[in-house]
Amino acid sequence: MSEASLTAEQRQRYARHLALAEIGPAGQRRLLRSSVLIVGVGALGSPVALYLAAAGVGTIGLADHDHVRLSNLQRQVIHSMAGLNRSKVDGAARTVGGLNPGIKVDAVEATVDEHNAMELLQRYDVIVDGTDTFRARYLLSDTAYLLRKPLVHGSIFRIEGQVTVFTPGRGCYRCLYPEPPPAGAIEESEQVGVLAALPGIIGTIQAAETIKQITGTGEPLVNRVLLHDTMAMTFREVRYRRNPACPTCGDRPSITSLADYRAVAAAAEGRR
Ligand SMILES: [Zn+2]
Repeated sequence: MSEASLTAEQRQRYARHLALAEIGPAGQRRLLRSSVLIVGVGALGSPVALYLAAAGVGTIGLADHDHVRLSNLQRQVIHSMAGLNRSKVDGAARTVGGLNPGIKVDAVEATVDEHNAMELLQRYDVIVDGTDTFRARYLLSDTAYLLRKPLVHGSIFRIEGQVTVFTPGRGCYRCLYPEPPPAGAIEESEQVGVLAALPGIIGTIQAAETIKQITGTGEPLVNRVLLHDTMAMTFREVRYRRNPACPTCGDRPSITSLADYRAVAAAAEGRR
């Protein structure tokens, strides 16, 4: 595909992508035609949304129910004082629109739960997990698998983070973590803290993997989880495979709808 299919403004804006053999005009056209849902517009969702908007992802969905608090601004770089106490998705949509008016942004001010997840996720090509609870991670993983969509997972804890990509048939979050940790094992980030730049590192890797999923370029971070420690400044890779006994993506799945997810989540919470 030639550059002629892009407007003069797009040729300028995306010049550094067009000059890359790995992206080029064909890759940029794919980005412009693509849609990505970012669930959670906080620490991880901030860099993901900024880079995907800058990269020219044509439609970006931003889903979050929360409002901006002063304690968010230490790491949630898409927000600012102007958005304090206001809706995170509205503020983020404004920032992203200012960065790149040529893309469409869907501001979804809602908690993604088992009632709306199917309907919401099915509208997008790639799903990015920027949430911070195990319940939400299992929900996104189950829904993305049921819809056969790629899920770009990231999570952070104190000074450590991890990132991986789940594509249908090559493992899911339940293959990596069959059970949530017992209650009390993992505290909320408010109590334990998180280093400011850490979500920038992990979220930026999520954005890069999303661009690779859309353009089909490079070696995706599939079947391997990248573990990062900011204090030691190390990156370690651990390989994993689809678990044939996985309740979601295994050979004889027991989770075949979000009603099944709800039953499993309720049982897991009963054990905690
Ligand atoms: Zn699985």
